[in-house]
Amino acid sequence: MIVSADPATGIELARHTPQSAEEVDGILDAVTEAQAAWRRRDITDRTPLLREMARVLREGKGQYAALITAEMGKPITEARAEIEKCAMTCDYYAEHAPEQLADRPVASDAAESAVVDDPLGVVLAVMPWNYPFWQFFRFAAPALAAGNGTLLKHANNVPQCALAVEEVVRRAGAPGGLCRTLLIEVDQVAGVIADPRVAAVTLTGSTEVGAIVAAQAAAVLKKQVLELGGSDPFVVLADADVETAAVTAVKARYVNVGQSCVNAKRFIVEEAVADAFVAAFTAAAAKLKVGDPTDPETAIGPMARANLRDTLHDQVRRTVDAGAHLLLGGEIPDGPGCYYPPTVLDHVRPGTAAFDEETFGPVAAITRVADADEAIALANRTEYGLGAALWTNDLDRARRLTRLLDAGAVFVNSMVASDPRLPFGGIKRSGYGRELGAEGIREFVNTKTVWIG
Ligand code: NDP
Repeated sequence: MIVSADPATGIELARHTPQSAEEVDGILDAVTEAQAAWRRRDITDRTPLLREMARVLREGKGQYAALITAEMGKPITEARAEIEKCAMTCDYYAEHAPEQLADRPVASDAAESAVVDDPLGVVLAVMPWNYPFWQFFRFAAPALAAGNGTLLKHANNVPQCALAVEEVVRRAGAPGGLCRTLLIEVDQVAGVIADPRVAAVTLTGSTEVGAIVAAQAAAVLKKQVLELGGSDPFVVLADADVETAAVTAVKARYVNVGQSCVNAKRFIVEEAVADAFVAAFTAAAAKLKVGDPTDPETAIGPMARANLRDTLHDQVRRTVDAGAHLLLGGEIPDGPGCYYPPTVLDHVRPGTAAFDEETFGPVAAITRVADADEAIALANRTEYGLGAALWTNDLDRARRLTRLLDAGAVFVNSMVASDPRLPFGGIKRSGYGRELGAEGIREFVNTKTVWIG
């Protein structure tokens, strides 16, 4: 059974019976048929759908944001921002996809030769609950513009969002079954990946599940994009503007109740400014309003599920037992809902849970270092490689150091965030492939050589 429950109250909102093998088969047929017709349209006939998707999203912003907050507990102001970002990304690809996928003539011995980008076919998206709309639209906007069809297997705690995103694309005028949601259990996913009607897979989620799905896709030689976990460093050097760094750091750690792959998770601070940073950070974190996620003043709502909170609390306990100083939070509150308070750990050392593992919730791990060399070494001492932030007022030094950080994105004097105009993705156990930007739209195309003799 697929159950939707409000993590702020525990109250069940809806339940769905997983689709049968016959129902899944019918959906696969419908997507395949719709995509076969969709790919025949010129790209400039496809992009108006994206404009309409943006319009439908903006028109329904209040309702969609409320659904996100109800199912996974994100503060309502952030849920609204999520819908706006989805719309912006649809607009971005509506405008840029034709030039990004334009035919590229190449001089050769042929009378005429060129590289063209054709769609791959039907792409299966296995998506997580943390940004229930954004995770889908950042994949779907470029994939649809490129001429693909989409199948969504969403996380099973957000089934109403899963149905709502399908409805957005349908209401925007997508033909037939071009974009369909599968309400299925995880043990049904392998069969969909292996199905000949599915061309490729994209997954956002944990590294463990990424490895499972990648192996299933590899066994049938299907293209994959994997956007997995992260343990992003936020490096503060002694010459940084420490007050601004601390204020930004609080946002970077606690946005989305700390449940984002690119939240800053490890704060690596030069000893010379560490006391000042820790004081400013802890004071700002203590002011975050915890409570009802439907209240626009709330900064920290519940975590999305009780088991995620249990895992996080266990990481905090193990890190404190290993010698870290607990400066704020760290206790599960009484009462209903999956709440966990903003938590700050200082003197966190490599080899302990909050440094070595991904902490997916409102817990900041601060590590003090002697100098910039040690900061870079510890920033890279992780099995992940998604984003990194670097704070220093010496921009020449910053440009040099950005090249030494092992991450898919480095943000200087800013926090890491995705932007539809720039590619997004990781290295190491954070996955492979890129979403967004011109690179993202190329992931699910057949880059085809055309030679006319
Ligand atoms: P999962 O990786 O388990 O879930 C992500 C998606 O994969 C969901 O749709 C899930 O479906 C699906 N899935 C799970 N198991 C399988 C499987 N064997 N085969 C195919 N699909 C599968 O994440 P969780 O929600 O359990 O979160 C656990 C941890 O993952 C977090 O604490 C965090 O560290 C990380 N995570 C990272 C995210 C990111 O943005 N990179 C997002 C979410 C989590 P179902 O819901 O039905 O299980």
